[in-house]
Amino acid sequence: MGDQTNYHMTSDEFRRYGRAVIDWIADYYQSVEQLPVLSTVKPGEIRAALPPHPPAQGEPFEKILSDFQQIILPGITHWQSPNFYAFFPANTSGPSILGDLLSSGLGVQGMLWLTSPACTELETHVLDWLAEMLDLPEKFHSRSSGGGVIQDTASTAALTAMLAARERATAYASNETGLQERLVAYASSQAHSSIEKAVKIAGIGSQNLRLIPVDGRFAMRAEALARQIEEDRRAGLTPCFVGATVGTTSSNALDPLEEIGRICEREGVWLHVDAAMAGTAALCPEFRYIQTGLERADSYAFNPHKWMFTNFDCDCFFVADRAALIRTFSILPEYLRNQASETGAVIDYRDWHIQLGRRFRSLKLWFVIRHYGIEGLRYHIRSHVALAQEFAGWVDQSPRFELAAPAPLNLVCFRHRAGDDFNQRLLDRLNQSGQLYLTHTRLDDRMTLRMCIAQTHTERRHVEQAWNLIQQSAHELEMQA
Ligand code: PLP
Repeated sequence: MGDQTNYHMTSDEFRRYGRAVIDWIADYYQSVEQLPVLSTVKPGEIRAALPPHPPAQGEPFEKILSDFQQIILPGITHWQSPNFYAFFPANTSGPSILGDLLSSGLGVQGMLWLTSPACTELETHVLDWLAEMLDLPEKFHSRSSGGGVIQDTASTAALTAMLAARERATAYASNETGLQERLVAYASSQAHSSIEKAVKIAGIGSQNLRLIPVDGRFAMRAEALARQIEEDRRAGLTPCFVGATVGTTSSNALDPLEEIGRICEREGVWLHVDAAMAGTAALCPEFRYIQTGLERADSYAFNPHKWMFTNFDCDCFFVADRAALIRTFSILPEYLRNQASETGAVIDYRDWHIQLGRRFRSLKLWFVIRHYGIEGLRYHIRSHVALAQEFAGWVDQSPRFELAAPAPLNLVCFRHRAGDDFNQRLLDRLNQSGQLYLTHTRLDDRMTLRMCIAQTHTERRHVEQAWNLIQQSAHELEMQA
């Protein structure tokens, strides 16, 4: 019930309930694979179970935990189930959760170096570690012209890159000159929707986003990009940003960075590379081909919160020229002035992104990297890719199913040969079974099922079970036809 005089939770209560919560999480992870993956609650069901008004008096923690279990848990889709194959994952791990808990415990707000030097310095250090672990080009290291910063999401990273691109293209005066109406951005027709959101927010406008066509492997056609840029220049417009993707959301397609990069360098256009999920694969030397040409990019982002066992949110954003980023975002009100910043010897990450305040996110990343080590991380990435390749082989050999796109890494796009309607019914049936969760996309304007294998605890037996269920459900639907 807390301290009766000041309402706070006492230290003893915090210890007791803290242990109970950790135990609850450990039990949850042990049993999550038995739970229906996709929540089956109806819209409004969770709210209807909650009291309409907040409590005037504090309630016992036991009651709060019990309501969490009774009311909230049924409304959870279990992203941490080994049978979760939907979207792209948001996987996590013990060391990440504990690192995040310590971050919550410290309650640090690291907007300036001064407001917690360790928050800034650990972040710089861990992002340099990652640059080394992924073998990123030298310019993305903090010892060079650039460096890394943690953003909340890949969407924010793309917007941040676009704002810096906009400013660079307008000599850092887009607001004064109104030039942004003439700016143009480019991405492939398969790029993530966050690029379109970014052009809207950045004031470039959806009408000035050119969606470049893709080839048979769903990768951007570099020659079409070059033609479009030329056409826009002839029309008096200013190309300022190209968003290339390493591992598109629909099919994990890999845009040709080398060719796109050459065009961007020639045209003086900012190249941002979004490797939200697939970027993690570059931990393994044999998958580093996915980032060939990255040395021509101005910025790069990938999400440890997708495939690197680090809980949401954690996007690692690297820039080649940190001065361009800082010039875009730096505004110094009197109340943030301090000696450390003025010496120029420290990084103030508030100048590297949109918001001012920031959590101590590098702690969870540091815990993950130290717990697994590079070899441990590689082990799991390789295992996910091998499982996906095996699954793709089963699909390919099945007379009923076909692969809908190349499967370079851990995402398999496939469909039953019986057409869109059948595939929709198959997907609904599978997800209603509670035994797995898959999502869909459209490729070549055809309904396509996506199976992304990247959950922390997915093993071969889960994937095998999923394939058996897919075949059996298809068979049952065929019988009904
Ligand atoms: N980019 C790609 C290629 C994605 O697949 C996704 C999400 O799946 C995003 C960006 C957006 O990710 P976030 O939720 O980190 O903004």
